Order: sequence, then C-alpha cells, then structure tokens
Amino acid sequence: MPDYQLIKKELEGIAVEDNPALVRQKSRDFYWYSPILKAQLDNVTADLVVTPKTEEEVIRTLKVAYAHDVPVTPRGSGTGNYGQAMPLSGGIVLNLAAMNKVKQIHPGRVICEPGIVIAELDRQTKAHSGQELRFHPSTAQTATIGGFIAGGSGGVGSITWGGLRDIGNILRLRVVTMEAEPRVLDLTGWDLTKVSHAYGTNGIITEIEMPLAPAYDWVDVLVGYDDFMDSVRFSDALAKCNGILVKEIAPIAAPIPFEYFARHKPYIRQGQSIVALMIAPHAMDPFLAFTSQQKGEITFRSDKVESMKGIPHAYELAWNHTTLRAIKVDPTITYLQVQYPGPDHVAKVQKMVEIFGDEVPGHLEFIRFDGQIQCSGLPLVRYTSEARLEEIIRIHQDHGCPIFNPHRYTLEEGGMKQTDTVQLAFKKETDPKGLLNPGKMIAWDNPNFDFAAGQNYLFPGLAALM
Ligand code: FAD
Repeated sequence: MPDYQLIKKELEGIAVEDNPALVRQKSRDFYWYSPILKAQLDNVTADLVVTPKTEEEVIRTLKVAYAHDVPVTPRGSGTGNYGQAMPLSGGIVLNLAAMNKVKQIHPGRVICEPGIVIAELDRQTKAHSGQELRFHPSTAQTATIGGFIAGGSGGVGSITWGGLRDIGNILRLRVVTMEAEPRVLDLTGWDLTKVSHAYGTNGIITEIEMPLAPAYDWVDVLVGYDDFMDSVRFSDALAKCNGILVKEIAPIAAPIPFEYFARHKPYIRQGQSIVALMIAPHAMDPFLAFTSQQKGEITFRSDKVESMKGIPHAYELAWNHTTLRAIKVDPTITYLQVQYPGPDHVAKVQKMVEIFGDEVPGHLEFIRFDGQIQCSGLPLVRYTSEARLEEIIRIHQDHGCPIFNPHRYTLEEGGMKQTDTVQLAFKKETDPKGLLNPGKMIAWDNPNFDFAAGQNYLFPGLAALM
C-alpha cells in the first residue's frame, strides 16, 4: 500500500483532496447509464484527488506517482459514459479542471488548456472574433475540451465536420508522459491518433490547439412527423441538401419526445416523432421552404418563442442527452450506440424498427462519415436482462449494423474490438509501468486476449470490488 501521507507531503503546494466522500465523488462518471457498468464499477474509488493548476504541477504529480508506483487517472468533468474516468486501481484522480485558460485565439484556431468547459471556450472565441469550435458534445455546458478529446468522438456539428477521428479536427496536443522524468511532447498530424480517444492511458494532455469555424446564433427547431421513418427520410434529405447550413439533425422516435422531453412537451403531440435541429439564421427561409415541401410540421422555433428561459438547447435533446432525459423519467431504460453504414442506412434503420418496435425506440444522429452522409444511432433500450441486451446487439450486428458497446469500460470492447497498435506502442513509450488509467486498455493487460472468442474482459483488480 503506497504511503499517501508521504505522497501528500511530496505534493506540497499542489491542491490535494483526501476526504473519502469528496474523493469518491470525483471518482465517478456517467457509468450508471449502463446497468452492467453500474454493477461492476459502483465500488470504484481513488485514494487522492490532485488538482494541478499548471503543466509544471502535472509534471511534479506524475513524477511523485511514478516513484511510488501509484496509478493516475485523469479527469475533466466526469461526464463520460463508460467509466473512462474511473480509477479501477485506486490511486490518484488527476483533476484537470483548474487548467482552464484560453491562451491564444487566431483566425481559424484556438490554443487552450484541457480543463476549460467547452461552452466557455466557445463563449470566449465567439466574443473575440465570431468563431466557435467546429463541433462539440451535447455536454458542452459541463464537459471539458480535454475530456472530449480523450474520451469523446463527435457531436453537434459532426453533420458538417465529421468526428474527432478525422484528421484536421484536432491540430495539436501537448502531452506529459508518465516516467521517472516526465517528458513533454507536442503531437501533430497522424501522431494525434496516439492520444485522442485513448482515455488518458498514454499521456496527460496539457495544451490543445483546435480548429474553429464561423459562429452563428443557431436557431433551434423541432420538426414533427406521425411516422418515425418519415422523420428519418426527411433528415436524410436535409442532410444531403448542399445549400442549407445546419449544425444538428437528430430524428427521435415516439414516444420519446412526448414522454421524456418535459420542457418541450407543450410543443409535441403524443405519438409524434420529432427531428431536433439547429439551423443557421440566414438558412431559415430555404429551410422552411424545404420542410414544407417535405410535409414536415414545424412544432418549435427558438426564434419565435417569447423566452427560452427554462427551455434547454435543442442539442440537449440529442446525442446522449436523449438517453439522460429518458432515464430521468424511467430509470430502467438504457441505450446502445449503433452504426448504420451507408448508402442504405435508411433501409437498415427501417429493418431495426420493424424487428424491435418499442423495445428499442429509435434515436439517430446524422453525421458526415468518410465524406458521406450517414447516420449513427443512440437508440433507447427497454432493459430486461443482460442476456436480452446481448441478443439485441447480436441481431443488430447480424443485419450489418455494428455496435460500439456502451456497456464496456475498455477501449477495445467499446470500440472496434481489436487492439489499437498505435496507442499500445505509444503507451509502452510513455507509461512503462502501466500506471495511467489502469484496466482500460486490454492489449496492455492481456496481449493474448481473444476478441473473437466472445468473452467479456474483466480487469482483475475489479473482481475484488464486485
Ligand atoms: P471525462 O469524463 O472527465 O474524461 C473522459 C476521458 O478522458 C477519461 O478517460 C479521462 O481519463 C480522460 N481525460 C480527461 N482529461 C484528460 C486529459 N487532460 N488528458 C488525458 N486524458 C484525459 N460524447 C461525445 O463524444 N459526443 C456527445 O455528444 C456526447 N454527449 C453526451 C451526453 C451526455 C448526457 C453524457 C452524460 C455524455 C455524453 N458524451 C458525449 C460523453 C462525454 O460527455 C463527452 O465525451 C465529454 O466530452 C467528456 O468530457 P469530460 O470533461 O466530462 O471528460
């Protein structure tokens, strides 16, 4: 057992918290979205929370942790859904929230620290020069930019710009390594794939350079249809419409909108499916003409309501906020993350709707994927048992709809179900003792793990906690 009193002494001058209740609070994320992760991770907690204010304090913390063989799990705001920010082996939670400065803003790019909340970053770039991030998660009001890069994938704006995996959507990351003498590395180009979406397993991001787009006062719109598939076809057609500038297109099946979107309920009829949209103000006229041609019913416009007080942003009905709003009303609900590869993505969605009906109420996000318009989905699941959930996953896969499993805490099982050799090689270089966010990269713990065998990975340290 590490000597945490000594460690605290060695970290003197840096903010350190060891109150068990507060440490436990900062050892959580949104893992409880999944009944499976909830059972597995409920007892996970760190020993200390360290909150550095500067890169120099990050380096000092990693040096001390390395010397004492103490695991370090970075944390932004803890809004990840898969236990990404949860310290499976205890040790230190490295809370980056105090490293929240914007350093420089230029035409087309911003340089900032990792702990700034995304909406605040957008606020500053907009005030400075009318620019905003190309896309952001629906948690923009709470999540940090560092946590998004290390734990997220895409979001509001991905209809135009694709996702974080697309080269050009991150410009540069500065990363501190976990070694006896931590190094500071600047990564650009393809090297960015070493640490983006690596859950902080192979370096701590201390500085970020992101591309920017022109900012608009986006208009929130809801378009209603009586049939979910009509809303999907409308969304597909709008997404392919070259001239109308949109930032978000999310068709959401009945009964989700009426049952779970409390603040928008006055604008939605029972049994109505909706499309949650963000439209550039100058695009409203062509958008209205297009929607009328498509026989969509405009049920809500943020530029026409008297006040938006108490009404959430349209993007806070979409992405994983759809799930959040449903769980708040019915805690037995969970969800899946589905891809519907094109060009026949609409037909694939239709097939899944026919098979599952109200057991898996539909929710799609239209995005640009490898240059093509496609949709991915975060459908709700009316959860009955783990066995049925596995069956629902299998049926999707059998119909050519891959699942990114949100009920797993490892990078591989939540992703492509294969070793990311680039991230593994970088971990060998930057974290030789395997102290950064242990248990999240199967390839590090068990290089012989057979992904094709169909078993789930259980991090050995967790078995004792369950
Ligand atoms: P955390 O949850 O704190 O951390 C995420 C991961 O990054 C962890 O593995 C952590 O260890 C690591 N990390 C954090 N900071 C650093 C750092 N400086 N250096 C290295 N590693 C670090 N995700 C999307 O992609 N798109 C969405 O639209 C979206 N919508 C969501 C909606 C809801 C309601 C919820 C609950 C989640 C959603 N998510 C979404 C997931 C999550 O909110 C985002 O990925 C978010 O950006 C994570 O930011 P965070 O600051 O909370 O990171």
